[in-house]
Amino acid sequence: MEEIVRAIEDSLEHFYIAINQLKKECETLRMEVQRLEKENKWLREQMPGKSNTPVAYKEGQDALARLYYEGFHICHMQYGNLRTEGDCLFCISLLKK
Ligand SMILES: [Zn+2]
Repeated sequence: MEEIVRAIEDSLEHFYIAINQLKKECETLRMEVQRLEKENKWLREQMPGKSNTPVAYKEGQDALARLYYEGFHICHMQYGNLRTEGDCLFCISLLKK
């Protein structure tokens, strides 16, 4: 009988230690979630195009600008052709939109 009680006590002790460990892990996770929530909020605030400009539109414009500065036409007349005579007024008017 005593042995059984001792065995149960041992188990309970292990159980207790395990529960404490879990509590600590919960607390760590809770703090991590809080930190991530703050970080997420901060990142959202840093996102461009929060006002009226949809991000996709802005990215499209950037891609066009990059294409233009790499030496290609982005205007309707000669889209995709190499710019051989320097700046193109049609392209530039598109970039300024
Ligand atoms: Zn052009």
